[in-house]
Amino acid sequence: MYYRAKNLAMTNGRTYHIAAILRRNGRVVKIGENTNKTHPRFKRQYEDGTWASHMHAEMNVIRFAKPGDELEVMRFKKCDHTLSMAKPCSLCMKEISRAGIKKIRYTNWNGDWEEIKI
Ligand SMILES: [Zn+2]
Repeated sequence: MYYRAKNLAMTNGRTYHIAAILRRNGRVVKIGENTNKTHPRFKRQYEDGTWASHMHAEMNVIRFAKPGDELEVMRFKKCDHTLSMAKPCSLCMKEISRAGIKKIRYTNWNGDWEEIKI
């Protein structure tokens, strides 16, 4: 399952390879990766008026989230594919808590898992 998530992330054609896994009662509901495409609901406009042209992996799966779900976010480094910091950014965090997700696990700089309870 992590292998599938990694595969998705590594073939997304972007500099950052991030995969997010949405779980419900321990089962995988959805695996998402960061993409160049953006979903209308998560469109972002920068202060200079340009639109953000990417979607974070978290955003990709939050659309399918139900209250009480859990989220795992992992980032793979480009060179050796080891895990790196994948803590959701503040925009994603806002959407994550709005979706009612109760727990987030993410990989830190050392490739270890950390946990945030909401
Ligand atoms: Zn984000």
